[in-house]
Amino acid sequence: MRSVDVVIVGASLAAAAAAKRLVDAGLETVIVEKQQLPRHKICSGILSPRGHRFLLENFGPLPRKILHEPTSCKGVTFHFPSRVEMPMDFFGGPTPHLHRKYSDHWAIEQSGAEVMDDTSFLSQQQNDDHVMVTARKRGGEAFTLKARYLIGADGPVSPVLRSLYPGYHKQIPMFFVGQKFHEIIDCPLDEAYFHFWFHPDLGHYTWSHARDGRQIVGVGYKIGDKFHDRHLYVAKYFEEKHGVRLKPADDDHEGCSENFGPSLINRYVFGKGRVLITGQATGFLNMIGEGMSCALHSGAIAGESVVDAMLRNKPVQDIYRQNVASEVRRTTDQWNPLKIAFDKPHEADFPKALMALPMADRIKVMKDIWSFLKLYKEFKWGRQIAAISMQRLMRGDYSQKNWL
Ligand SMILES: Cc1cc2nc3c(=O)[nH]c(=O)nc-3n(C[C@H](O)[C@H](O)[C@H](O)COP(=O)(O)OP(=O)(O)OC[C@H]3O[C@@H](n4cnc5c(N)ncnc54)[C@H](O)[C@@H]3O)c2cc1C
Repeated sequence: MRSVDVVIVGASLAAAAAAKRLVDAGLETVIVEKQQLPRHKICSGILSPRGHRFLLENFGPLPRKILHEPTSCKGVTFHFPSRVEMPMDFFGGPTPHLHRKYSDHWAIEQSGAEVMDDTSFLSQQQNDDHVMVTARKRGGEAFTLKARYLIGADGPVSPVLRSLYPGYHKQIPMFFVGQKFHEIIDCPLDEAYFHFWFHPDLGHYTWSHARDGRQIVGVGYKIGDKFHDRHLYVAKYFEEKHGVRLKPADDDHEGCSENFGPSLINRYVFGKGRVLITGQATGFLNMIGEGMSCALHSGAIAGESVVDAMLRNKPVQDIYRQNVASEVRRTTDQWNPLKIAFDKPHEADFPKALMALPMADRIKVMKDIWSFLKLYKEFKWGRQIAAISMQRLMRGDYSQKNWL
């Protein structure tokens, strides 16, 4: 049986960042990815300035082939039922519009780790000083790798997390997000921006943007509703209210489950023993579903923590939890009403854009945001957000007691 230092499950951005730290420290690192690389990943590909900096600093200049058309994005435009629009530019200028199929593969290659693609993680078993990781190549026999540590960078429905806590995903609300692609007849939405609707009638998460000559119409809602009906309703709204005229959707629509919620209430999952969970699998997700920057940073922290644990011969979970607290602050601050009101936790200036509106529009926006938030009432997050916001104010941090 082969022995390695670290096995990482998932060949995405969190994995690339973790692998970079491990390979740089001279550790034998194997990434196991269930799809064939380069693999498709459903994502708008709008990179935050912080995510952009991470890629440049760690992997070098971004090649053109890893970008969609338009190749960059200036920022985000919020739309409200009262028809007020708020465009907000990213701090520091436009950022690259990533084509995730190629950007993730590029980052993985730049990390220097060995990759086993077309290979699914099946199970793990921990012992005192190692983890037995079982995986299977598509169409092949199951095999086992002996590793000193295992990192689950395997996304929102993380099988590695499930192997530690089998009932976990049933205990949190899971959402469905789906997108359809349309040829454009006429689209007045500025293609330099990502567009997001704070509109309770349209759903929990409604977005649109241009990509490679087509327009994306995206909808998100609690699992159980009908994607096609939701999408039709939103497309009709775009036409009636914004004059967006699109051809019927092409056949290549797609959707997936999302674990939206843990970062709002500081309920992250970082693993157990020698198994670390990182990226979106932990619950990291920034405002309006931006997950690449926190995937990259938490992935790097997971990799660094393994290196530290080996050098100092200390339990990796203690080191990881201490180190990752900075990323928890950055992400959960984005949802913290006190931080939003009195600080600048986001990477575009919402307070400035709000203050630039006439007073009557500001009042409309605040009312619209309030009625949008009521859509989330059933999840009972309000009190928990208030409690952790006070905690952050009083002790300068979020409690680690909420973490798994
Ligand atoms: C519709 C949509 C739009 C989005 N738009 C944006 C955006 O514009 N900007 C942004 O920053 N974020 C966006 N996000 C969020 C972003 O895509 C994620 O937060 C980010 O990709 C998380 O990265 P990750 O490295 O944690 O894992 P993921 O990117 O989810 O990758 C996990 C990997 O694990 C692999 N895997 C899963 N199971 C197994 C297994 N059993 N064995 C082996 N491998 C396995 C998967 O194949 C995948 O390659 C969007 C998400 C969605 C759904």
